[in-house]
Formats: sequence, structure tokens, C-alpha cells
Amino acid sequence: MPYTTYVVEKGASHSFVAEAKPPTVTMPRIKALMTGSLPGFVDVIRNLNSPSVREDNVLTQARAAGKRIFFYGDDTWVKLFPKHFVEYDGTTSFFVSDYTEVDDNVTRHLDTVLQRGDWDVLILHYLGLDHIGHVSGPGSPLIGRKLREMDSVLMKTHAALLAQEKKTLLPSLLVLCGDHGMSETGGHGGSSTEEVNTPLVLISSAFERKPGDVRRPAHVQQTDLAPTLAVGLGLPIPKHSVGSLLFPVVQGTALREQLRFLHLNTVQLSKLLQENVPSYEKGPHPAPAQCPASTGQQGQ
Ligand SMILES: [Zn+2]
Repeated sequence: MPYTTYVVEKGASHSFVAEAKPPTVTMPRIKALMTGSLPGFVDVIRNLNSPSVREDNVLTQARAAGKRIFFYGDDTWVKLFPKHFVEYDGTTSFFVSDYTEVDDNVTRHLDTVLQRGDWDVLILHYLGLDHIGHVSGPGSPLIGRKLREMDSVLMKTHAALLAQEKKTLLPSLLVLCGDHGMSETGGHGGSSTEEVNTPLVLISSAFERKPGDVRRPAHVQQTDLAPTLAVGLGLPIPKHSVGSLLFPVVQGTALREQLRFLHLNTVQLSKLLQENVPSYEKGPHPAPAQCPASTGQQGQ
């Protein structure tokens, strides 16, 4: 993926390895990405009959804020969020041997939708790479070709966003991620490193360009995307999110803003703890002199 590599190494971007919790199958992983919470194992059973998401999530918040959301790709999204998309075209993942039509059905919308610009959030979920994995494994020669195809999708999208920014003067955010990884044999669902590790790249002209020092990407949780997107879009962080704001993403903002973002995340997380952990201290925190943790230690 030459263009993506260029943006990751030299562009205005932040890269992470995001850990997906098992079960590494699509439905619970999309939920984790959008709610920031960890659905139970029962979701594997429900995976074939995806019910709509009732938990608080980034898309519900975005819609409530009047944002127009468009979607193209894996129709699991349409089942999970049946009322959220102004425009959508779902593709079934049932025909696993097909890796061309499933993606052409997404890409065919791209030129038009990128030109129109009458949306606030655009979600594209490509299936071909996953399908190639299932049929012929991660070593298949088809993988390289598919990755180059995905690279050109990213390049086209990025170029369109940059062109639009010239008119709107507002920075956009492009997120490249995977819902799950792929095992040595090309499947997924389990907890091997290859299945749980997913790439997460955030690209925005609001970030500083890199001078070229390539560092190993930090390991984060897949659930960290939800609070990061919420904060970035100026939306409330989903109530049940266990994610932590991806701090490097906001480090370019004023110190006061950074503190505000951290405060929002902390308040949301402590509320969640208070509601779910019976032993959580519900009263005010004891004064420092009485607090055992503070004896002899500064800055606790
Ligand atoms: Zn799959």
C-alpha cells in the first residue's frame, strides 16, 4: 500500500495497532468500534441475526446532532444501525468466494459521493480482503492485488477530502481500520495475535506532518476509537464506552483543549465505574491526609 505507507511515514497521521477483543467476528467488532464497549460472547450467536444496537454509540450521537451519515459496504452495519444512514447500499458478506463484486459495489459510489460532499460522515466497509483470506489464506497472491486496490481507494478519498478542505477551511478526518485480523490460515473469530491485531490509521491535516522518524505504532484498544471520534466530532462520548481517548490525536490542540478532552473522557469513565462497580467509592474522595495511597508519595 504505497500511498498509505507514505502517509503513515511522512504524512499528517497517527498510526496504532488496535487490539480487537475476541470473538474476532464482524458484528461485535463493529459494535466495539462504535460504542466503545465490549459486547458479550452471546454476540457470536447473534452474529447471524444482527439486532440493532440499542447502546449509546457514536452514530446515534452523530445523527442526533444532525450529521448526515452515508454508508456503503458490509450490510451488518445496516442491520446494526437501521435508522442512521441518510443514504446506504449494503452488501451481503454471505458469498464468501466473491472478492470482486463485494468491493466494486462500494467503489462504484465513490466518485459521486466524494464529489457531492453533502454528508458529514461516510463509512465504507470493504469485504474483499476478508473473503480472500477465507478462501485462499493470507499468503495468497490475491492479497497484494487487493491491498493495492484498497490503497487507491484511500488515495482517492484522501485527495477528495483535501480538495474539499480548501473550500470549507475545516480539517477532515480519514480513519483506516479493520474490524478484526486474519489468522495464519485466513480465518478469524479466535484470539491469536494475528486475529486480534488490527491497523488503525488516523489521517488529518489538523495533525502535524512527520519529519520522517518512523516509530513503532503504539498498541491501543479497538474501543479507544469511539471516544476519540466522539471528541473529534464534538459529540458526547458513548455512555458505556470503556475506551481511552487516543491522546496523540489531540496533542496538536491548545493545552486547554487537551485538558478539556481528557476531562470529558475521565468524567464519562468514572460515571461508568460508579454505575457498574458496587465497591466503587460513591462518596467524595477522602482528603489527601487520610488517603492511604498518598502517604509518602507525591503526585498521586
Ligand atoms: Zn471473515
